Amino acid sequence: MARIMIIGGGAGGTALIPIFHEYNEIEITGVVDTDQNSPGILLAKEKKIATGNSFTELYKQHPCEIIINVTGSDEISHSLGIFRERQPVEVIEGASAKIIFKLVDERIIREQEALLRLNELEALYKIGIMLTSSESENELLTSILSYSNKLTTTPAGSIALYDECNESMDLVLSQGFDGIVSDKHAWQIRKGGLTEYILNQNRPVIINNIDQFDKVDSSELEKLDIKSLIAVPLIVERRCIGILYVDDFIPRKFTAHEVSVLSLLATQAAVAIERMQRFEHNRLLAITDGLTGLYNHRYYVKSLKKEIDRSMRNSHQLSIIIVDIDHFKHFNDTNGHLQGNEALKSVAAILRLALRKIDILARYGGEEFAIILPATDNKQALKAADRICTMMRNEVIPGMDSQPLKQLTLSAGVASFPEDAKNDVDLTDRADKALYLAKKQGRDRAISFEGITEVTE
Ligand code: GH3
Ligand code: MG
Ligand code: MG
Repeated sequence: MARIMIIGGGAGGTALIPIFHEYNEIEITGVVDTDQNSPGILLAKEKKIATGNSFTELYKQHPCEIIINVTGSDEISHSLGIFRERQPVEVIEGASAKIIFKLVDERIIREQEALLRLNELEALYKIGIMLTSSESENELLTSILSYSNKLTTTPAGSIALYDECNESMDLVLSQGFDGIVSDKHAWQIRKGGLTEYILNQNRPVIINNIDQFDKVDSSELEKLDIKSLIAVPLIVERRCIGILYVDDFIPRKFTAHEVSVLSLLATQAAVAIERMQRFEHNRLLAITDGLTGLYNHRYYVKSLKKEIDRSMRNSHQLSIIIVDIDHFKHFNDTNGHLQGNEALKSVAAILRLALRKIDILARYGGEEFAIILPATDNKQALKAADRICTMMRNEVIPGMDSQPLKQLTLSAGVASFPEDAKNDVDLTDRADKALYLAKKQGRDRAISFEGITEVTE
């Protein structure tokens, strides 16, 4: 066991204390400084190490074999010289003390670096897990951006995804802009702009200081007070699916290490995002009608159950409308099936226009449509159904002249929960009965089940 006394409670002494304290073979017998509030003295007290303002006094109570003098003071060095002649102690000071201090300092830096690497590995590992476990696209994107900011110690960032259909970029997430995120959520890829520049580079673009970066027009970044950034294209199978940005509001020099770790993260992120998009696409495909783009029958049935449950919980009313095209067989017979398909698409578009965003619009079957109107009573639903019939009546559809009514028209049946039925199946049946009556009464009209007592064939 080596017993060591440290003279000097400044930066040098403070750095040495925890390192020596860690070793079982070394005991710090005391820390000396004339300033009893120096950081070294305070740290020693915290670790229950003896302290004092005179090394000779402290030595009497706590003898040692080695004294390390990190004060750099000639006076103390002189006193130590005399002290050493009378006591069996070794003194480390001057250049030797500096070497020890340097070694310790180096070790601290290494430890910090190791911790940083560990954080990076942890983040990359977690991104890897998210690849398979993220429940939603938003959760995935938020995690990617948060880790990107953490790994590069940047205060802000965003993710933009490439929209192939519109050849534009969609800003899907931004963080750290204090709510002043650009109101532009989609932007066209402008000639000479930063996005085009990044996409052409096909590798990370590093801007340490916007003011000195004249390759592109950076006015958009200036609006957000961005001064420096790294932008990494998100590439999957040689295809760029978006861009990941980390931003800072001050100029800074990004290290090669920061760039490479962010690139590594971006590689994993790109795969995860693409997978999520494919999953979402397939999910939509499974609930969508191919011809009209509306929801399909299966989705209607599932949604109606869910919406009825919700209505019961919130004690809200709910209504449904079943819509059927009048004399559509005739339309097909005279105009052909293809023209019939076009007419079906036009009807779908009109229904979409006539309804609210929260309404669920599905193609129920051949030329029938089903609509769920959450939080809507019978009167309001009948109004919506009337509006639909009127809009259709006023629409010019190629081929409609040959129809019996000289128009392409709709009939609609309305039913409401809970008055008309207590469950989803009965509710659909009641709307169907109302529709039947609308047909019977001459078509091109909406009828509510309310008030129908008996529907006869
Ligand atoms: P009503 O006024 O009583 O509803 O008469 P309708 O002729 O519309 O009724 P019916 O049920 O006899 O005929 C429905 C027709 O809808 C039969 C079919 O030709 C047509 N149809 C169903 N699905 C499609 C489709 O996907 N495309 C086209 N073009 N026609 C379809
Ligand atoms: Mg029909
Ligand atoms: Mg019909």
